Amino acid sequence: MSRIQAIRGMNDILPEESYQWEWIESVIRDWLAMFGYQNIRTPILENTDLFVRSIGSTTDIVEKEMYTFIDALNGDSLTLRPEGTASVVRAAIEHNMTYGKSRRLYYCGPMFRHERPQKGRFRQFYQVGVEALGFEGPDIDAEHVMMVSELWSKLGISAKGVRLEVNSLGSKDDRKKYREFLVSFLKEREESLDEDSRRRINTNPLRVLDTKNPHTKEIVSSAPKLLDFLSNESIDKMEQFKQFLDRSGITYTVNPNLVRGLDYYNDVVYEWKTDFLGAQSTICAGGRYNSLAEQIGGKLIPACGFALGLERVLAVLSSCEIEISRENPDVYLVSSDKTAQLYAWDIAKILRDNGLKVVLHCGGGALKSQMKKADNSGAKFAVIIGDDEVAKKTISLKSLRASNGKFATQQQELSVYDAVERICEAGV
Ligand code: ATP
Ligand code: MG
Repeated sequence: MSRIQAIRGMNDILPEESYQWEWIESVIRDWLAMFGYQNIRTPILENTDLFVRSIGSTTDIVEKEMYTFIDALNGDSLTLRPEGTASVVRAAIEHNMTYGKSRRLYYCGPMFRHERPQKGRFRQFYQVGVEALGFEGPDIDAEHVMMVSELWSKLGISAKGVRLEVNSLGSKDDRKKYREFLVSFLKEREESLDEDSRRRINTNPLRVLDTKNPHTKEIVSSAPKLLDFLSNESIDKMEQFKQFLDRSGITYTVNPNLVRGLDYYNDVVYEWKTDFLGAQSTICAGGRYNSLAEQIGGKLIPACGFALGLERVLAVLSSCEIEISRENPDVYLVSSDKTAQLYAWDIAKILRDNGLKVVLHCGGGALKSQMKKADNSGAKFAVIIGDDEVAKKTISLKSLRASNGKFATQQQELSVYDAVERICEAGV
């Protein structure tokens, strides 16, 4: 029989790696709580229209990256979510969440895009996203950038190759004015552009600025700049935004060609980039999207947010050689025979009731091989139960790690409560 394998670009995260995920997720949860953001969980599957109308029909995502299929039971077109913002705004409209109040929300979960898998680019990948709904900004836009900057510090990657680029996309009117100039610039150079960009001249010319094609990139570097077409209102917002960043000592560069790959943005947008991931250099991206709620049939909700790609952040941590500690058991419990195992069964409960992480050896076997498993488990201590211990109602404690310092590595026979004390003293 042929072997069934996982889908290309969709990864199994095994225990050898998953502890890093659990660690980063817990750092992120604590960090978000510090800023008063609340968790929202939306379905992974949505009506296709939600993404077409919010992300925009002429974007990479909608044109070629969505996992879309027809629900065979009722003919609906459904799509695995390629990003989180549209779903959060849909939920906010559906549940009237911003009626009379603003909301600070976050989500964490898998997203799906049919891209060519490569370093830092997968078909199922994980994002943590933050959305602030019902805020005019730009104070909250700056809060988001400052939060992310704090996260880099918490993770230990602040000074090591993460940089911030910012831009303003202005208002719809600003972009309309600019569009004419950009289109004529691009048309004059049409022959030299890559195929995607040529097609976009008429459908979505701003996206040409976001091209990944090196030759097109070179050409558009001298294109007219949207920044020169901003209204006074948008200029003011950008200036205020920058003031907050300066206040926090956050350094940034203004990249006038930063437009973001989704259509729903306006005014302040930004990306955090790294040099560690080759072409996949963006680890976090966001901005303001005031028109999104209306685009999907709701009332206007001024809003902004960002998403960070967890695989890419983990890859940066690994490139910076940042050690992530693994949570090992405190105790591995071994026993000499069936009677001893019954006693060990009770001891395991007592140890756990005292707050220790305990792995009870299952499956029998010689003590020597059980001890080998105890060692491989990464546990700090082995608790050994033999006939003697059963008879005297004691346990034998053996330190498995030299780093337990003052503890002798030879076995000590103790009462279970003395053992708990010893283990806790050793810095569990
Ligand atoms: P890129 O330009 O790299 O394709 P994007 O602009 O499509 O990124 P966003 O839609 O802004 O990305 O998503 C936010 C973040 O999610 C990205 O900065 C990145 O860290 C991560 N991300 C996006 N696509 C993928 C993917 N296919 N695999 C892994 N992470 C991804
Ligand atoms: Mg992309």
